[in-house]
Amino acid sequence: MGRGDVRIEEVPEPRILNPRDAIVRVTSTAICGSDLHLLGGFIPTLRRGDVLGHEFMGEVVELGSAVSNLAVGDRVLVPFPIACGRCDYCRRDLWSLCDNSNPNAWMAEELFGHSPAGIFGYSRLLGGYAGGQAELVRVPFADVGPLKIDRSLSDDQVLLLTDVIPTGWMAAEQGDIQAGDVVAIWGCGPVGQFALRAAQLLGAATVIAIDRVSARLRLAESAGADVIDYEEVKVLDALRDLTGGRGPDLCIDAVGLEAHGTGPLALYDRVATGVRIETDRGEALREALLACRKGGTVSLAGVYGGYLDKVPLGAAFNKGLRLRMGQTHVHRYLRPLLERVQRGELDAREVITHHLPLDQAPYGYEIFRDKEDECIKVVLQP
Ligand code: NAD
Ligand code: ZN
Repeated sequence: MGRGDVRIEEVPEPRILNPRDAIVRVTSTAICGSDLHLLGGFIPTLRRGDVLGHEFMGEVVELGSAVSNLAVGDRVLVPFPIACGRCDYCRRDLWSLCDNSNPNAWMAEELFGHSPAGIFGYSRLLGGYAGGQAELVRVPFADVGPLKIDRSLSDDQVLLLTDVIPTGWMAAEQGDIQAGDVVAIWGCGPVGQFALRAAQLLGAATVIAIDRVSARLRLAESAGADVIDYEEVKVLDALRDLTGGRGPDLCIDAVGLEAHGTGPLALYDRVATGVRIETDRGEALREALLACRKGGTVSLAGVYGGYLDKVPLGAAFNKGLRLRMGQTHVHRYLRPLLERVQRGELDAREVITHHLPLDQAPYGYEIFRDKEDECIKVVLQP
């Protein structure tokens, strides 16, 4: 309803608009770090009254005439990017870049040159779709995105496959981890936690996790990471010490545009975003670029939305770094990561700290944003 203002309101029920649509009755939906960027007013073109939420699952209650692979009553996971399955990008397995799912493509073209896929509950710029923090959602291209889920798995076990599990995975996979590699991860929120577990499963010898929130650092440590509290020590010095001066092979930014920091550039970001000459805060990314070993990879899972100042591109250039980034191609990872969940290699229940009824969403947003009550991930149940 405005910056820092989320409310529960009655809205008209969604209806089938296209033959490839489904209506899903939501059973579980989560609050994501990306939602915090909307709440903080960092992503433009969100309007008062827009319905948030892009991590959700539920039961199909109605189907358009062209959806033949699902039936009413099916239990489904819905990937957060909306993808047509037929354009050149979808065929190349680049689902979050679908050419056909953003009806407001012109807005994104003005800002980014080209439009990425539409995303549920993520501003007019990315499609203006009503989101899944609701009782009912319209799911476009339902013949492509939703994955049927067996009743033997609980909502908590599979819900985060709609976003943060694949997001952490893609962040690690983008680093082409080799045996013996050292991976450093900025941010120990849900995305950072899954990037850490993915890096281990993909063969990293050492994972170093960076944050300042003690409950999150403890969880990373219990998963086998070395941890750095960025308010206690200088991150660049600590990483140099931990890697014999060489620097991590892969640096993952799981923080994004609302990074906090302690140095002069963090202060610069606060002032510059305050007066709107800069849109995004770059502390985590700057450190990742400076820390990374020569020829290494910096992989961004954290979201950036606009313009960033004082990025040490010279460091990236002269060290021959490789940069990888993007909204996650969730469709690509759903099935293989579901198998890993079934084998017990990834367990989302580790990060889910709060279950709340949907009508307590404003409280859920508050504790997740302010990292109160040891909150790591909130699941809302309509
Ligand atoms: P979160 O807010 O729970 O976690 C972010 C963490 O970063 C917090 O624990 C915070 O203390 C920490 N942090 C802040 N500044 C830091 C710094 N300078 N150094 C180290 N840590 C710092 O959010 P989340 O749900 O884990 O999401 C993380 C990011 O990933 C967000 O930007 C979110 O939008 C993004 N995301 C991207 C995708 C994608 O498709 N690429 C999908 C989901 C989420
Ligand atoms: Zn998300």
